Amino acid sequence: MSVFTGLKPSPIWNYFEDICRIPRLSKNEGRIRRYLVDFALKNNLDVKEDSIGNVLISKEPSHGTEKRKTVVLQSHMDMVGEKNAEYPHDWSVDPVIPIVTDGWVSARGTTLGADDGIGLASQLAVLADKNLKAGRLECLFTVDEESGMTGALNLDSDFFSGRILLNLDSEDEGILYIGCAGGMETIGTMKYKPVSPDKQHTALEISLTGLHGGHSGDEIHKGYGNSVKIMTRLLWKLSNQFDISVSIFNGGNLRNAIPREAFSVIVADRSAAGEIRNVTEKFYLTVLEEFGKLEENLKISIRETDLPTTVMDKENQLKLLASLNCCPHGAIAWSQEMENLVETSTNLASVKFEEENEIRINTTQRSSI
Ligand SMILES: [Zn+2]
Repeated sequence: MSVFTGLKPSPIWNYFEDICRIPRLSKNEGRIRRYLVDFALKNNLDVKEDSIGNVLISKEPSHGTEKRKTVVLQSHMDMVGEKNAEYPHDWSVDPVIPIVTDGWVSARGTTLGADDGIGLASQLAVLADKNLKAGRLECLFTVDEESGMTGALNLDSDFFSGRILLNLDSEDEGILYIGCAGGMETIGTMKYKPVSPDKQHTALEISLTGLHGGHSGDEIHKGYGNSVKIMTRLLWKLSNQFDISVSIFNGGNLRNAIPREAFSVIVADRSAAGEIRNVTEKFYLTVLEEFGKLEENLKISIRETDLPTTVMDKENQLKLLASLNCCPHGAIAWSQEMENLVETSTNLASVKFEEENEIRINTTQRSSI
């Protein structure tokens, strides 16, 4: 008896069980490709392959639907292979063993490969359905999605004829995506002149941690704090009230993440240190109040540290803080066609002090137009 007995629709689960038995890591799709071609031949369906290894199986329209537009269904043949350290599994020969626990399908000791095995299984079930009422269907199976997308990237535009394509590789059940934002990265770099600080001065380290962060694609409009922006605002404020010199300012990490932390070291006259701490603490309370419930875990702390060997020259320090202050972050425009859809956004992702007195500012933009 199959582990999937009772799961519906049964044709999909039957094909998925077949697919689980076929090793198919990225760039090793030979066996799954042969399985697809055999399936097509067994079911009297047209099949072709291109030079990179993509497969297309076509199904003629059912009676009375000949005039409908051709629809392309697409999935990818390969899967990501991860396994538990102690589980013996050879990805080049061993089958994935599906198990069902508490209504969830997973695999014994390894990844299941439902991404995108369930996409393949859905296409095969549709192709094999003798009672399907549908116009001409083209089922496209691409290779190597998980490690470079070489299948999709090398696809010839006349490999298939349909101009409506449904990609069957999403994580959200019951949701149809009709578009996707494009993205780009904009990187700014600048150099500064390193200057030796006055030996009589003191150094203060400011740490900003505990922000929510989030994904720049999914959460840019939620109003979470940006650690680079907040640290800039503090340094800007301090530099307007006191004679401070910035030694380092690092914040943020990945380009698609809203930055959660930032750290800086500043140098100032000893007599000003107490007042700098007071201003910083007041600033912290102001920011906490501004964000309210959104950023309850924000922490800004300031403490004395060793005097650094160099600080920024004043001219470039002003340029850096002014640039970061002006640099936009967040949703820039909203769709006029769909409610609550961000159309264009930008993420001020990171600022990093690097080798040879260079500062690198990384930003990413997304837009659906
Ligand atoms: Zn996928």
